[in-house]
Amino acid sequence: MVKKETVKKSVKAQKSVLSTSIASAKIDNGSKCNDRLCPIHGDRKLKMRGRTFEGIIVRKLPGRVTIQFERMIKSSKYERYEKRKTKIHARLPDCMSNNFEVGDLVQIAETRPISKMIHFVVSKVVKKGVKE
Ligand SMILES: [Zn+2]
Repeated sequence: MVKKETVKKSVKAQKSVLSTSIASAKIDNGSKCNDRLCPIHGDRKLKMRGRTFEGIIVRKLPGRVTIQFERMIKSSKYERYEKRKTKIHARLPDCMSNNFEVGDLVQIAETRPISKMIHFVVSKVVKKGVKE
């Protein structure tokens, strides 16, 4: 009796795993901006939408400014207009911190609430050094 031995060769097909590398494009404008709540460089999606106001910076703090402007209200009893002042706190991103000083006329734009008092962000300087 002759036994026939059949040797089966199993060929393993090795699949090469293709590693897809996603090139993340980062915006570099020369100056480093580590502020996550920056409307231009930040990654926390601070979008300018809604109302805009113009006012003079009366106070500057790290990361925020206080602007003030006057508005006219008609007083029907005296048939005249009265001036009222409004103060608004606005966020100042790190990369724009050197461009804004006390006394500048600036424009602010509404954004989502960042904290209890801040729901605006400064957008641009309208005029430098209006009031010292
Ligand atoms: Zn920035």
